[in-house]
Formats: sequence, C-alpha cells, structure tokens
Amino acid sequence: MRLVIGTNFDDNLIRGINKYPVKYLFGSFKKTITGHGRASFILPDIDENHFKDHIDLIHRNNMKFLYVMNSAVLNGNEYSPEFNRNIENEIEKLVSYGVDGFIVALPFLIGKIRNEYPDLEISASSFARISTMREIEEYRNLGVNTIILNEDTSRDFKFLEKANNYVRDNDMDMEVITDNSCLFGCPYRRTHDVVSSLSSKTDDKKFWFEYPLLFCATDVYNDPKNIIKMRWIRPEDTKLYEDIGIDRFKLASRTKNTNWILRSIKAYSDRSYNGNLLDILSYPQGNAVPKAMEKISGPENYRELREVYIDNTKFPEKWLNFFKHNDCNSMSCESCGYCDKIAAQTMSINSKNIINRENKSMDIPVNLVQAFKDGNSIQ
Ligand code: SF4
Repeated sequence: MRLVIGTNFDDNLIRGINKYPVKYLFGSFKKTITGHGRASFILPDIDENHFKDHIDLIHRNNMKFLYVMNSAVLNGNEYSPEFNRNIENEIEKLVSYGVDGFIVALPFLIGKIRNEYPDLEISASSFARISTMREIEEYRNLGVNTIILNEDTSRDFKFLEKANNYVRDNDMDMEVITDNSCLFGCPYRRTHDVVSSLSSKTDDKKFWFEYPLLFCATDVYNDPKNIIKMRWIRPEDTKLYEDIGIDRFKLASRTKNTNWILRSIKAYSDRSYNGNLLDILSYPQGNAVPKAMEKISGPENYRELREVYIDNTKFPEKWLNFFKHNDCNSMSCESCGYCDKIAAQTMSINSKNIINRENKSMDIPVNLVQAFKDGNSIQ
C-alpha cells in the first residue's frame, strides 16, 4: 500500500506519519494564479518560507511533495501573453522551492509543465474526470505519469482492472481516492469543479462558500441512503483493489486538521476502522453545509446530517463483490436497490435505523446561492 496525503501544512503531521506507508503529500497555496480544487477559504494560510520549510521536512522524511495546480478553468486567460509569462514564472518558482511534481487537470497546463520540465512527475487530477481507457491513452500521450481516476469509476472493477493493466504496461501509475463523498453520478460535479477553481484564483470572484455543496446536501437530506452509493473506499476493502494491482490510495485531506488526517492514515494503514465510516470521509454535506446554513440563518434541516452514523463494523465482509459482477453504469439505482439494502444494515440517524426515517422532499434552495457572495447575507 502507498498512501498519498493532502497536507494541511502542519509540520506535526509530517512528524507523525513516518511510521506509515505515506509516499507523497500534496497541497498548494490558498489562492493561486491558476486556481485549484479546493476553495481558498477552507485552506490554511501559509507564507513562502513556511511552504519551503514544509517541503524540506517532507524530503527529510523520505517523501515527495506534489503541487496542486488542478484548476478546471482558466477563464480564457490562456490567450494572454502576460498570463502565460506569469504561469511560467510561477512554475519555475515552485520548482525552485523543491516541488517534486504537479497535479494538473487541464491539458494546457500539462503541456506548459511538460515542455519545460520533461523529468518532473505529473499526475492527471481527478478534475480531469478520467473514466475511460481512451482518456487514459490520451493523457499518457500528453506526458502524464500518474492517472488519478474520476471517483465514479472506483467500484467499476472491470474498468479498474483493465486500466491498471494498461498503466503498468505503459510505465505509468494510477491512484484511487478513498474519502470521496460526492454523489455517484453527481449532476453538480462539473459546476463544483469550476466553482472551486474560481474560488481559489487570485484575481477572481469573491464568495465564501461552494454552492454546489448545498445542492448535493439537499439530495442527501432527501435520501441519506445516497451516501452508500458514493464511491468511497473503506480501509477494509483496500485489499480488493490491491488484489488487482492498485496499491496507490489518496486521502483528499488538505482541508482537515492533523488529528483527523492521522486517524485516517492509521485506519487505512491498519486496513480497519471500528467506528462511524463518516469519520474518515470528507462528508461536506454533514459538516460544511450545516455550518454554512448557521452563518446565513438558512434552513435548519441539514443539521440532521450531522447525526448520520454508518457503522463500519456492520458491512457484510464481501459486500463489495456485488460490484465485481454488476455494472452500475448500465443499471438504475431505483430498480437495483443493493445500496439501500446495505444502508439498512449499517446506517442510522439519531440511533434510529434509516429504514424508519420518514420520506423527505426538500427543493434545492437555489435562491440561497446569492447569500454566499462576499458581503451578502440572506434577507
Ligand atoms: S446501481 Fe445498485 S449497486 Fe450500483 S450504485 Fe445504484 S443501488 Fe448501488
């Protein structure tokens, strides 16, 4: 097992992980010229000296650091000679600070890095949304070393096995994300990728919350069993991935505190967690959304999502084998119902089994989006 960990730039994190199989850390400044995959307001504020010292510490502990430059959009700035110069200077500066490689989504940026630095590692970000063999071939041709798969592929074992064989045959690497809490087949994902990218760009829009989270939290509020369909990977289930040759697991943890990250690293290293599975998933629907609603005096409904408990010890041992023999991409969840059965065995809210919860049907509160603009509040 190799773990790839989002750093919160706390040096104690690095000191606490050298007994675990962590090979890479990744992170970025809060706001950057390109933007990246996490909203700036939830990231630690670090200066350049701390950034360099943190990378030095990572290197002294025999791990590598990848810089996240995975914006999903550059707003057409690609056409500006000044922007091109600024990007090139930014990459040069980061390389001089000691970064070992980059995590990138846009082919434009992959090309920029690859032209100047043929030997630097480049990972194609999950924001590249790679889900097919053909996309892997194309990203290989662009010069990428590692494919970070679109999370929606994480239970498509037929694809995972073929993809892994392909990257091995082509001297590449592949990574899957463990703590993903996006809806499976999420209709808000592309917007969310763009909104996160914009919110972390130096010159851009001013807002303090990624509104697509409110949309998916509404879907989860209406049916918490949606959480089972999400493509997270339990510590106990990593073996199934390793059995087909996938041993590189990413914890998208750069917004979490050090204790949270260390607990997750331990769980994945031990391949076991006895507690609420949501403790080790990013789960913004039950964390960030209720907090944001309190800030704007929005609906209180989402608070219930804080009370969801998924007993990680209650999953049937071979529950994931279902996905080896069934193809969720060509089935309707409504007629399948497998995830609902797993929810009934594992999930409760306020200590009541999920099957006893009354049906809810809340509309997505689209009019709240404007309340997240800097300086605005709800009327
Ligand atoms: S198709 Fe079935 S197994 Fe797949 S996500 Fe939907 S309910 Fe779950």
